Amino acid sequence: MRSWSRKVTPQTFNLLGGEPAIHPDLPAFVGLVRKHWPRSIIRIATNGFLLHRHPTLPAELEKHGPSELVVSVHHGSPEYLSRLEPVRALLAGWQQAHPRVSFSYTPSAGRWTRRYLGEGADMKPFTDKNPRTSWDICPARTCAQLHDGKIWKCAPLAYLPMQAEKFGLGPEWDPYLAYKPLEPGSSSKEIAEFFGRKEENVCSMCSAKKRLFDLPLPYRSTGAPEMSAAGT
Ligand code: SF4
Repeated sequence: MRSWSRKVTPQTFNLLGGEPAIHPDLPAFVGLVRKHWPRSIIRIATNGFLLHRHPTLPAELEKHGPSELVVSVHHGSPEYLSRLEPVRALLAGWQQAHPRVSFSYTPSAGRWTRRYLGEGADMKPFTDKNPRTSWDICPARTCAQLHDGKIWKCAPLAYLPMQAEKFGLGPEWDPYLAYKPLEPGSSSKEIAEFFGRKEENVCSMCSAKKRLFDLPLPYRSTGAPEMSAAGT
């Protein structure tokens, strides 16, 4: 954050995960973001199930506003929605006590689209060869990622090297693994060009059609909720 705070001013700074509430110090990140970006909206996107571990979070969000917390509703089944009831009760209390923070829900179920084919070592990029259309329909196209001290075009590119390290991906991923993120030493011109780019050749790895899929019920066998990393 320190490397970028004088160079870019995001309208909204999202604290993401996977699931950000897994981090035991999540509330401390809110003030850290505010220290570096005095005017950005701070948003936390969460599945909600671990928010009870962070009783100081709503006060931090209020203190460092403008801020919002959005619960992504990952599944539409009655079972899932009934497990969300305690989260709704918690947030209703937080909203009452902290009226300057925006607490809301977004229905992610029904909007999941595939970012790649297969999984693990067998995952493959799409081969539609239409990067402009892939970018046009891309839900991640305005979500640059600050990761590893660099700014990446999107989450699928930012975390592809980690997937390659974990699974050992095939050579069809090499052109995408060669993607170069924006470095902290970049000039103002390079930064402006980076954020002005729309589709790039790397967008060929994504589908040029909206390939929706039904997320399986995101619970472990123990009944503990978890995030799926399968889609955006
Ligand atoms: S590579 Fe392009 S189309 Fe694919 S997720 Fe990133 S911005 Fe979207």
